[in-house]
Amino acid sequence: MNAVPPPRRPIRELNDELISQIAAGEVVERPASVVRELVDNALDAGARTVTVRLAAGGVRAIVVEDDGGGIAAGELPLAVKRHATSKIADLGELERVSTMGFRGEALAAIASIAELQITSREPGAAHAHRIDAHSGELQPAARAPGTTVEVRELFFATPARRKFLKTDATELAHAVDAVRRHALARPDVSFAVWHEGRLVAQWRAAAPAQRLADVLGADFVAASRELQRDAGPLQLRGRLGLPEAARSRADHQYLFVNGRFVRDRLVAHALRAAYDDQLHGSRQPAYVLFIALAPELVDVNVHPTKIEVRFRDARAVHETVRRAAEDALAPSRAAFLPATAPTPATAPAQVPTAAAPPAWQGALALDHAAAWIAREPSPRAWPAVHVLHNAPGGAPGEGWAAWQALRGAPPTPSDAAGAPMPVSTPHDAAAAGDWPLGRAVAQLGGVYVLAENAHGLVIVDMHAAHERIVYERLKVAAAAGADGAALPAQPLLIPVSFAATAAEIATAEAEHDTLHALGLDVGTLSATTLVVRSRPAALPDADPAELTRSVLVELAQLGASRVVQRARDDLLATMACHGAVRANRRLTIDEMNALLRAMEATDRADQCNHGRPTWRQLTMKDLDALFLRGR
Ligand code: ADP
Ligand code: MG
Repeated sequence: MNAVPPPRRPIRELNDELISQIAAGEVVERPASVVRELVDNALDAGARTVTVRLAAGGVRAIVVEDDGGGIAAGELPLAVKRHATSKIADLGELERVSTMGFRGEALAAIASIAELQITSREPGAAHAHRIDAHSGELQPAARAPGTTVEVRELFFATPARRKFLKTDATELAHAVDAVRRHALARPDVSFAVWHEGRLVAQWRAAAPAQRLADVLGADFVAASRELQRDAGPLQLRGRLGLPEAARSRADHQYLFVNGRFVRDRLVAHALRAAYDDQLHGSRQPAYVLFIALAPELVDVNVHPTKIEVRFRDARAVHETVRRAAEDALAPSRAAFLPATAPTPATAPAQVPTAAAPPAWQGALALDHAAAWIAREPSPRAWPAVHVLHNAPGGAPGEGWAAWQALRGAPPTPSDAAGAPMPVSTPHDAAAAGDWPLGRAVAQLGGVYVLAENAHGLVIVDMHAAHERIVYERLKVAAAAGADGAALPAQPLLIPVSFAATAAEIATAEAEHDTLHALGLDVGTLSATTLVVRSRPAALPDADPAELTRSVLVELAQLGASRVVQRARDDLLATMACHGAVRANRRLTIDEMNALLRAMEATDRADQCNHGRPTWRQLTMKDLDALFLRGR
């Protein structure tokens, strides 16, 4: 069958209305998109209070009121014109843009698919003016200084789009979500959302930490860690959910770049990588992260809805975010337990409490940490031990040794794969009631260690916990000693060749040394073929071509250092599993106590390498509840 070519039509310029409707197709997906644009405008106008009123999930009506700087009567007709903006005037300003809007198309696009009216008054004006976008009619109106934008009958002119909308309840949820994102980014501004005359969400101006708790809930705050880092041109702050607060969907991931909510695969990947060996692959971490950097270091003009950005130095951003997140997540939760039951009258100010994770993590200087240990040689100084232990440049274990010396106990013999359990002294056992994870009392079923601490009962999965301890030690040793050394390679009797893309070949050639360090000897056979001559000795069953391909993909995306580190970590995890104490081995009380102490001093000790918890606390309250015992 020969298709008949369609008759040729002349090229014509589109009319303004149609151009705006096409733009609206990109900018306005649903009522929530309109809400986002209008609230962006209110914030750009310096509003301190923003009120959103919706009818029928926003499809019938979206009204956004603000108390910002308003629009001069003479400029109202321009506000609804395509490509008319007060926010940028030239290319230089586009490259340094710090307002939410700058494309000058939102109001025009919305007006092309809905009824739109603006009522606005500048602070100095005698009264307000109101414009109807369709008729262009301008009239005097009554209003306090600020702006009200009313959008009615969304998609009335484009019924096909309207069919894609979900139920009112779903559209309302999306609209509230849009305001929630603004509320996270701007704690200094009050927000309210009304639906059909009912108040459905409200956030009053508050300090940043309070706003975070107001928006995401106290549960999230309690199950998360603070992240704060100034890394040259990049400033990061936020909170990262602990692994146990992870979710099956990526619906609790809030990322802001210079105050703008964005989706960014690079940053999402960097954060996920920080959870790599603490979270099952299918689980999604919850987090909120604010990245601030000079506007010229990030391009915000890459997507019509400004939901995506492009970083000038993507690798540096990835690296900085991942490291900061790893550091925030590393300390074991035991560090946050008060060693003794909280007694406010006598507790020194620095004692971290379980209710409010302390700020010592980022703030505590090293010398402060050392002074703290000297001043207070008790388990209360545990966080200081942790700081020393992880000091960049400091010998690994330094804090631990300092601590042991203060306690009058010999340092724990350094552990390695296959090494025996650490040994502790009776002195330790006697004092162990003061420790965050408590004093061992028994072993259960050859699997669990039971301990008593100030809060009640601690249950430890001994294999999982020891595996993590061995793994973290191997990582420290590998980072300190074997940096740059190659993983052992196993030459292939018959080299494997495979068809490769131009990009794969380019990466293979550029990263030849990195591949070699991973035990992969990869060469170029032709313009379309690569050959693998060795694979890592630790992976004797791996398909060399598959392995090489996936490593090339990662190398192209992530850079050499990250890939090498991950490969090492995978290998060390396997070694750790073999090195850790097996189930059904009887431990002495001293061995159990030594395990608890080692957990307290080990990063990420709360999860085994596969993301399962290593210990649980049952408080006296939990136990009372079990026995229906009123206290
Ligand atoms: P953009 O925000 O990209 O400039 P818009 O179409 O969203 O484009 O808005 C056009 C212009 O209308 C803005 O540049 C601003 O000057 C003005 N404007 C819109 N909303 C408000 C508001 N709530 N308060 C003050 N001025 C506003
Ligand atoms: Mg705008």
